[in-house]
Amino acid sequence: MSASVLESPPEARRATGSMRAVVVHSFDAAPRVEEVAKPIAGPGEILVKIEASGLCHTDIHAAHGDWPVKPKLPFIPGHEGVGIVEALGPGVIEVALGDRVAIPWLGYACGTCDYCVSGWETLCESQLNTGYSIDGGFAEYVKAHAGYVVKVPTGVDPFDAAPLTCAGVTTYKAVKVSGAKPADLVAVWGIGGLGHLALQYARVAGASVVAVDLFDEKLELARELGAEFTVNASERDPVAAIKELGGADAAVVLAVSPKAFEQAFGSLRRGGTMSLVALPAENKMELPIFETVLNGITVVGSIVGTRLDPREVFELHAGGKTRVIREERSLEDVHFAMEDVLRGDVPARIVLRP
Ligand code: NAD
Ligand code: ZN
Ligand code: ZN
Repeated sequence: MSASVLESPPEARRATGSMRAVVVHSFDAAPRVEEVAKPIAGPGEILVKIEASGLCHTDIHAAHGDWPVKPKLPFIPGHEGVGIVEALGPGVIEVALGDRVAIPWLGYACGTCDYCVSGWETLCESQLNTGYSIDGGFAEYVKAHAGYVVKVPTGVDPFDAAPLTCAGVTTYKAVKVSGAKPADLVAVWGIGGLGHLALQYARVAGASVVAVDLFDEKLELARELGAEFTVNASERDPVAAIKELGGADAAVVLAVSPKAFEQAFGSLRRGGTMSLVALPAENKMELPIFETVLNGITVVGSIVGTRLDPREVFELHAGGKTRVIREERSLEDVHFAMEDVLRGDVPARIVLRP
């Protein structure tokens, strides 16, 4: 956890009080809600009172220490926090008191490296990630770098804005880099928090969608949201099914399983592009060189979105182009919520309420 939360001097803690937050102390124990010191906004930072906080599968990877680079324990997860700016640290000009903002995964970047100045701040080597390397939004309050929060337009419900902040932004970007265009067929692998939005962005790009998941309820939802075709990969071979449709021009892989990546590769037409998004703990897939070369396949990794993507995502939502499917739960429910996500037993996204 960042020093400011648990190690702030007692006089500061008394002055600002405490708050409830989900704290991960160990990769083997269930995260729990506890009382911790309320953070204080430093220079360039703001304090946000959280209204809604989406639970991304990434929070589960973080809590389990699934990835090669692990978060430093203890920490507060959550990178789909939305709330109201309650205090401004010195020098903040980007937002005002009372603004509704979203606090995304990209919590901070240096602003001056080659990546930052070329609109690829998501690749900045000095970046800080909300709910991973800095404390996140599973709390009553979070502090954030003012230059990296995103204003939520009036008219967008905070409980919709929360899932859009990562699930929306990430899949909007992943569809963009897949090059999806009208008359294309886009295969979306995994209709969870990310997938239910990915398929809508593919439709916004004008493409047709084939949705792949292991559960019929997820596929019913995909059809409701505009997927023309669905394949239950636990019942039939999705590669054969998609090849029957002529093959996919693009595949966006959001299923937390290396097998899904391999199947998605197999489903592509010649010249197709595959966007890698999901981050399974088993960090390997088999990629056949011969078929990649001869079929002219593009494989592209896609990490969240820059500061431009959330603006566009919120604009699309305010314009009625997307629907967020979510269920509200209390912060105290976080452990069960994580278990339900792992079982696939949730309507797209769970949004926690502090
Ligand atoms: P989720 O659990 O809500 O959704 C995953 C979906 O995949 C579920 O519907 C599940 O039933 C389905 N699925 C699982 N195995 C499958 C298989 N073999 N074939 C087809 N479908 C299958 O998770 P989420 O929150 O949408 O996140 C998905 C992944 O994306 C996670 O690994 C997460 O860490 C990652 N992620 C990456 C980025 C990024 O920037 N690259 C951003 C956010 C999340
Ligand atoms: Zn996320
Ligand atoms: Zn940078």
